[in-house]
Amino acid sequence: MTCGPDETPLPVRVTRPTPFLDRLPPPAQPLPRWRIDLTPPDITPWRAGNCGIPGVMHYEGRRPGPHIVCVSLIHGNEFSGAIVLDRLLRARIRPRSGRLSFIFANPEAMDLFDPRDPVRARCVDEDMNRVWSPATLDSARSAHELDRARVLLPVILTADRLLDLHSMLWPGDPLVLSGLAAAGRQMAQRIGGITTAVADQGHRSGCRLIDHPRFSDGGPAAACLLEAGQHWHESTVNRAMQAVMSLIGPCCGLPVPATAAPVPQRDMVVTNVVTARTGAFRFVAPFRGGQVLPARGTLVAHDGRDEIRTPYDRCMLVMPNLRPARGHTAVRFARAVSSPA
Ligand SMILES: [Zn+2]
Repeated sequence: MTCGPDETPLPVRVTRPTPFLDRLPPPAQPLPRWRIDLTPPDITPWRAGNCGIPGVMHYEGRRPGPHIVCVSLIHGNEFSGAIVLDRLLRARIRPRSGRLSFIFANPEAMDLFDPRDPVRARCVDEDMNRVWSPATLDSARSAHELDRARVLLPVILTADRLLDLHSMLWPGDPLVLSGLAAAGRQMAQRIGGITTAVADQGHRSGCRLIDHPRFSDGGPAAACLLEAGQHWHESTVNRAMQAVMSLIGPCCGLPVPATAAPVPQRDMVVTNVVTARTGAFRFVAPFRGGQVLPARGTLVAHDGRDEIRTPYDRCMLVMPNLRPARGHTAVRFARAVSSPA
């Protein structure tokens, strides 16, 4: 992470000088038609839960061991994780040691899924992955996702290892996200089948589940977020299954699939979060998540009058949002933890 004299990061955002003000950004392209190969799973048997908390299936092994928690449906339209947990529950998977919890976080959002408007089912009221700070959880405010987070909190507060299952709207390499705490970063290295681990500080707009103090205060509890692939693709389900099996296989006495490679090949840390300041944020090309731009200073996007450029060589684009709304994260820049010389 240290920079030599020739590696001083360049500014990411540069406002164009006035002679170029009349240059218009490229026009917005219409949203693509998303390929939808999956349908939401029938999770009727699990909606009531089995431990007093709706949507939480909890099992205890005979021997002591960690409490492993797998979370699906933090975003209702990302149901590949729910498909995985439903399959494992129907296969009657049980821990031999420790405790195992499967969470269907927001079935009510998934119930809104409509293939004609598939992004709509992300939430009922608000983004459930921005409500996990103690201040927000303890506040007097009420909303569907926030109230649901409060109901799930007792499970979260006893988790030793938590994997939050997500997928991505735009094409990109699958990745495991962690916060900057050591426990989460170590856990990310052990998630099977995923070759990119990315550590970041989270979002200014609110606290993610993996950033709850349970996992971010330097203690032993660890949490990661899996972006298993694109929404609604069967390959995303398969990858999420590999990742879950690599986590729960040992405590359930199941073999971890040989295809679940244990060590990520890329260990990245986010250095910059680019937020769209205007409603006219346009990437100069349809970049893919995980794409590495070799030269620093490469033009990535226009944001109104501003140009967005990569700050250093070998800059990885983390989950570019090709149609960001004003105020939303458009892309994050990441570099390798130990950059090759
Ligand atoms: Zn998500």
